[in-house]
Formats: sequence, structure tokens, C-alpha cells
Amino acid sequence: MKKIIVAIDGYSSSGKSTMARQLAREIGYLYVDSGAMYRAVTLYALRHGLASPEKGVDVEALVKALPEINVSFSLAADGTQHTMLNGEDVEREIRLMEVSDMVSPVSVIPEVRRRLTALQQSYGVDKGIVMDGRDIGTTVFPDAEMKVFVDASPEVRAQRRVDELKAKGEEVNYEEVLYNVCERDRIDTTRKESPLRKAEDALLLNNDEMTREEQMAWLLDNFKRIAGE
Ligand code: C5P
Repeated sequence: MKKIIVAIDGYSSSGKSTMARQLAREIGYLYVDSGAMYRAVTLYALRHGLASPEKGVDVEALVKALPEINVSFSLAADGTQHTMLNGEDVEREIRLMEVSDMVSPVSVIPEVRRRLTALQQSYGVDKGIVMDGRDIGTTVFPDAEMKVFVDASPEVRAQRRVDELKAKGEEVNYEEVLYNVCERDRIDTTRKESPLRKAEDALLLNNDEMTREEQMAWLLDNFKRIAGE
């Protein structure tokens, strides 16, 4: 079987990270969560007063600070992948609502996208990688052998996110999460640079009514077909 690149894109909270991570584990590929990288840059901006819910993003200051922002991944003792910001493990913090609320406005900035896209492309030089995000099949790896676009209704996605956050002990409100999911969809699909859209050659997966097992079986079937060609 040849080594390929698997690009998984889709709307917020469509379950793509969970399925991408699981697929990578099953097939022995590297997994990269590109959304975590945008979240880490957003966390940096929040911590340094370069972004706030009241004032929005100070684009000029954030672009100037970009050379100071180093995002990487490390493998924790339990085998899970953790996002690092300038050497600090920020895996938990980047999932907080404060970050979710500011990440899409930060992600529209072309300089931020260019920097993270270059880093993402460097992870894929040897192939054998599963990456999930919004523009992986369109911009980061337009030649990826396998592209998947995941969709589900906003209500199903919001409920999934609520369950996920509650399981982590966070106090969340369904309406607030639904608003965040819809608002991120709106900003992500309408931005000028690399908007979220299905690549023409991507396989569509609507997982509204699919169990995790069914999704994984679908992904593995397609992976075997494409990588085995
Ligand atoms: O995947 P996740 O929901 O963690 O992504 C957080 C945000 O990061 C998205 O809503 C989007 O604004 C941004 N993002 C992006 N391009 C990617 C991945 C994420 O713009 N490839």
C-alpha cells in the first residue's frame, strides 16, 4: 500500500478531529489537528492583550508578534497529542469557550494563515499523514490523495460540543454553543483567504445519523480503496 495524505475538512464540531485521530491510529499515520494551531495563536493573542471580545483583534500587533509565536505538538505519556505554545502545554486551555469565541476572527488574517499553512505543509512532506481542518483539501494539500468533507446539522454539532465540554467539567449552555458554532461557520465560509468549502474532489460524509463505528468503517473502506490503488 502506498503512503498517502488524508485531508479531512468540515464545519465546527462535526466530529472530524475525533475521526481523523482515530483513523490515523488505525492506519499508523501521523495525525495533525490544524484547528489546534489556530487556537494556540488565538490563545497567545488573548494572553497578550492583542485580542479581546470587546475590542476584537489588533491585527497589526498580532502580525508583528507572529515571529514570537511557536506552535508545536508533543506526545504525552498516555499517548495523546498535546498542543504546545512556546514550549508550554496549552492543550486544555485552547479548548475553552474564550478561545472558541475569538479563533475565527484570528483565522481570517492572511499572515496568520500563511505562517500556519507553511508549518502544516512541512508536516506532510513524507506523506503518511491525516490532517483535519477547514482548508486542508483546498489550500494546504490540494493534491491530497484522499479528501473528505464532513457535514452535520448545526443542532447536532452544538449538542456534540456541549456533551464534549461537559465531559471535561466545563459549565456550558446549549444556546451559547449553538451560537458559537453558527458564527464560526459564517466567518469560516465567508472569509477571503482560504474559506471553508468542499474541494471538488472531496468525498462527502454527512454524519448526522451515523455512529462513530459506521463513520470509521466508511473512512477505512475509502482509505483502503484509495491507498491500495
Ligand atoms: O477545528 P477547530 O474547531 O478546533 O478549529 C477552530 C477554528 O480554527 C475554526 O473555526 C477556524 O476558524 C480555524 N481553522 C481554520 N483553518 C483550519 C483549521 C481551523 O481557519 N485549517
